[in-house]
Amino acid sequence: MSFHPSPPVSLYDLTFDQLLGTLVGDGLRPAHATTLWRALYRELDPAPNLRADFLGPLRRWLQERWEAPYTLTTADITTCISSSDGLTRKLLLRLHDAQEVETVLMGYPGRFTACLSTQAGCAMGCVFCATGQMGFVRHLTPGEIMAQLIAVQRLLRESGDALRNVVLMGMGEPLHNYDAVMQALATACRAPGMALGPSRISVSTVGVVPGIVRFTDERQPYSLAISLHAATDEERSALLPVNQRWPLSELIAACRYYMERSGAKIFFGWTLIAGRNDTPEQARRLSELLRGLNAHVNLIRLNATAGFSGVTTEDVAAAAFQKSIQDAGIPCTIRQFRGIDVAAGCGQLRSERTKPRKVASMVSEEAV
Ligand code: SF4
Repeated sequence: MSFHPSPPVSLYDLTFDQLLGTLVGDGLRPAHATTLWRALYRELDPAPNLRADFLGPLRRWLQERWEAPYTLTTADITTCISSSDGLTRKLLLRLHDAQEVETVLMGYPGRFTACLSTQAGCAMGCVFCATGQMGFVRHLTPGEIMAQLIAVQRLLRESGDALRNVVLMGMGEPLHNYDAVMQALATACRAPGMALGPSRISVSTVGVVPGIVRFTDERQPYSLAISLHAATDEERSALLPVNQRWPLSELIAACRYYMERSGAKIFFGWTLIAGRNDTPEQARRLSELLRGLNAHVNLIRLNATAGFSGVTTEDVAAAAFQKSIQDAGIPCTIRQFRGIDVAAGCGQLRSERTKPRKVASMVSEEAV
């Protein structure tokens, strides 16, 4: 009979309570868990097993258990490219099983936003999205989501900058990987680690209604963003297959439920595609759809590339669309293009490495 040792467990995959329970169970004190948590998430230490400054019991615990049974998630940066204006950096990270995911770091005056991936590939199949074209490969673990955040935090630390916002708008549908996403975000917000502010984190979904309801019932403290893009079922289903499963009536009902329970607003994303969803009639329909909701509409200019027939809306038409929404009493913002010259759409960097570029995608944008 052959013996197959279990793969090591990443410390990044443990909640604080799990780490605490493990250490205390092995005879260490609760303070050791706090020390290790700080090393992992505040000091961003890639090798806590080599720390000479830890007290003896923690030092020995790490040395004796490193690699078996514990280790850290590896997410090696295989590619890092910057936009020509230097404001956007795209990282391609290779995970332990050679899956590659993208993480984007967007710079704004005095602040930085990280856009994280939550899955390798995606099951949602949005027609304009390179990740959707890949199909679903697997969910990321909490540790793999955190590893992306740690990678961008290390980059920012080199330049003396600080991360302010996090958006889950990279590869994957966050609410399709709900448990791992929420664990990772709880880790990101926990002191004395990264201690990010929950209100500075935005979870974006194409409309996974059960996930929105659960997000509401659990009173998750993060912002919620919905990728809408169309205001009728026929038009939306043509862009986002998920709409066939959860049509607009169910999605808007879930949004209303969230708003009533949380008192928070929802950010609705609308990618402008010339002649397809940027007409005055569609602006009117969007306003109708959102009537009575505490909504903010983010208009996103399509990053049109080969493989998708849609082209971006001209400035004048985009401004007219925005004005129509605002005239209906709904706050509406046109988001800037970011990182167009580095294939800013989710999945594009990876797809360009692995196959000929053939799919257009949405612009990676700050959602809030
Ligand atoms: S846009 Fe988002 S949800 Fe849709 S296929 Fe791409 S990654 Fe998935």
